[in-house]
Amino acid sequence: MLDIQKIRADFPILSQTVNGKPLVYFDNGATSQKPQVVIDAEVKYYNEINANIHRGVHTLSQLATDAYEVARGKVKDHINAKFAHEVLFTSGTTHGINLVANGFASILKPGDEVVVSSLEHHSNIVPWQMLCEKTGAVLKVIPIDENGELIISEFDALLSDKTKIVTVNHISNALGVINPIQYIIDRAHAVGAAVLIDGAQAVPHLKPDVQELDCDFYAFSGHKMCGPTGTGILYGKETWLNKLPPYQGGGEMIKEVTFEKTTYADLPHKFEAGTPNIAGGIVLGTAIDYLNEIGFDKIHEYENELLEHATKRLNEIEGIRIYGNTKNKASVVSFNIDGIHPYDIGSIIDKLGIAVRTGHHCAQPIMNFFCIPGTIRASFSFYNTKEEIDAMVDAVKKAQTMLS
Ligand code: PMP
Repeated sequence: MLDIQKIRADFPILSQTVNGKPLVYFDNGATSQKPQVVIDAEVKYYNEINANIHRGVHTLSQLATDAYEVARGKVKDHINAKFAHEVLFTSGTTHGINLVANGFASILKPGDEVVVSSLEHHSNIVPWQMLCEKTGAVLKVIPIDENGELIISEFDALLSDKTKIVTVNHISNALGVINPIQYIIDRAHAVGAAVLIDGAQAVPHLKPDVQELDCDFYAFSGHKMCGPTGTGILYGKETWLNKLPPYQGGGEMIKEVTFEKTTYADLPHKFEAGTPNIAGGIVLGTAIDYLNEIGFDKIHEYENELLEHATKRLNEIEGIRIYGNTKNKASVVSFNIDGIHPYDIGSIIDKLGIAVRTGHHCAQPIMNFFCIPGTIRASFSFYNTKEEIDAMVDAVKKAQTMLS
């Protein structure tokens, strides 16, 4: 059992009022709040060891380099990568996906196929469209059904020896649906395709095991898992990272530079040009420690209770439709109320201190599928409570009365 009041005390922002009401923060899918240990670690870095890494012989530079590499090791252990050099620091999921998509430009030929799903965030659609435009490859899309789940038989039918990469999210940000990624990875590998998993919405709720999954790439953001903004990780299998060309050129990523020819550094530095977000990377390690201390099994179990409670309570509201009508879900309820624009509900409940997301959630194809402009999305974290969910339901009912 989690001691929620103790956990809440770790997050200074949660005790504030917004618009004169206690803050109820249900926009965790967009970004999570940060515990005091994470905030302290950021301050400690700048107070004590701030220096550029991998360069200086001086003590501070070595301390900062060591701390950065310790953080890389923590991520490696956390996701069970085989080698630390398979863990690349990025600025977030978007950066990681673009890095891979850019690298595949040197691999794909006209007529090759890239498979994405209808459940993707724009950051796992647009880079692949750009890649296809550049290479003449063809984008294929796994459709969804009315419950917001991938139609797996259609996925099977899309696969062929033309498929070079399959890229899907682990958990949908717009609906919270958990995708059958193990099946997708195994089937894609059977036709010789690589697989990228967008884990942005998964890592706050579960601990991925990249070796067990056997995915080729797994991208995620630090800021959704209690870490700082502008941090992220791209895991890539060593063989793939050696095969892909660098994404950006600059300092840090070279072995030797001459005007005749430049050679590139070994992994992971080949993909880490320029001065990275040093503080962010180190502090992401602190965030991962914090989450592991609480324990992902407990987080997962408690968040499921919150999801169940929210689904049951919201279903009391007349005219509600919840999108993503499946048991295979994590921590998100995405809904609309008959005849009312999601933005209007979001604005009214904000005045009551309740922070939800309204709109298309960077997933316009899903909204187009359901023929809606957007949804109201409440996304939960382990520091939320059932009482907060009750407050949201009351607020939504109030807004409904005002707007009807
Ligand atoms: N994929 C998914 C599923 C997401 O939820 C997000 C963030 N909303 C992203 C990708 C992009 O993450 P970031 O903006 O941190 O790069």
